[in-house]
Amino acid sequence: MTTALFDYTEQDASGATCIAHAWAKVPVPLSPTQRDALKQRARDLLAQHRAVLVAHYYVDGDLQDLAMETGGCVSDSLEMARFGRDHAAQTLIVAGVRFMGESAKILSPHKRVLMPDLDATCSLDLGCPADSFAAFCDAHPDRTVVVYANTSAAVKARADWMVTSSCALPIVRHLHEQGQKILWAPDRHLGSYVQRQSGADMLMWNGACIVHDEFRGIELELLRREHPNAKVLVHPESPRNVVEQADVVGSTAQLLRAVTELDAQEFIVATDNGMFHRMRQAAPHKKLFEAPTAGNSATCKSCAHCPWMAMNALQGVIDCLEQGQGQGEVFVDEPVRVKAEGCINRMLDFVAANPNATRQPAQGLVPGIGAA
Ligand code: SF4
Repeated sequence: MTTALFDYTEQDASGATCIAHAWAKVPVPLSPTQRDALKQRARDLLAQHRAVLVAHYYVDGDLQDLAMETGGCVSDSLEMARFGRDHAAQTLIVAGVRFMGESAKILSPHKRVLMPDLDATCSLDLGCPADSFAAFCDAHPDRTVVVYANTSAAVKARADWMVTSSCALPIVRHLHEQGQKILWAPDRHLGSYVQRQSGADMLMWNGACIVHDEFRGIELELLRREHPNAKVLVHPESPRNVVEQADVVGSTAQLLRAVTELDAQEFIVATDNGMFHRMRQAAPHKKLFEAPTAGNSATCKSCAHCPWMAMNALQGVIDCLEQGQGQGEVFVDEPVRVKAEGCINRMLDFVAANPNATRQPAQGLVPGIGAA
């Protein structure tokens, strides 16, 4: 087994700069009257433009509700990509971060893909520039290149496979069984989790999600002692000492399913707290606790919220539909799009041929911790 880290030291600096920029663009909270008025305006515009709203679980609850009420969807990035591709609407509004809009455009090149704020990005995407990544791939031509969805179209264009957190493990396991060695990018925690579970030979890029990287193993242990009956649900972008305490490790969709399907009445959840909106709607009588990102002395005990996801707002949906041609719209160069489409379709074909592969991982994944 070979596991090596590629030392990409610029990542932290670029992430920090852009977080300040993102928080500055997060909209102020609305009064109930303002919210109702904006929601109605957005609803009217969606109907007028025959557009469909595709939202991620981490965006504002009002946007999630609007998507559900208007025939759109709220889901993880795998389902967002499939939903947008298969829906009859010719205009897709993608409420999430930049790579999600790009994935929608890659799969639906003839559709108009709009986003509430084109500046909404992701530390994983920022930390994996296409030119440095291409040099990494060139240095290891014997490896199959597997990239996480949270990357630019240009990085996907250089890859053999794209994966999401729903299907990363079964796909890497499949490649490993065929004797292939993997070059993995960009999330080091997800990559390391997949490596431990599959035993695959993986060479890794050194990226991280600024939200999940903050969960603290020691603090989680203390919270578990306070709630001994709570099941612990963890997204695999979290550090190893957090993942190792999990009853369930999975994607956002898999964690949501765990809350609704498991017998337990209490859950500690380690993922972006935007996820709690759908979890509370799906299981209103269950108690949910946010996994800690800091100790008792901190001003914020759990601050797990993505600033780029938080930039998405009702006003942004209205603006992108009201603005003229090309405003708020996602474009991907055609040669890049065609190459990137290949690696996304490989994943979608695998998932279609192995439907249980993405459903299974929600339960009892961590050896030695016990089945959920
Ligand atoms: S939560 Fe993390 S992985 Fe998701 S968009 Fe934000 S920075 Fe990227």
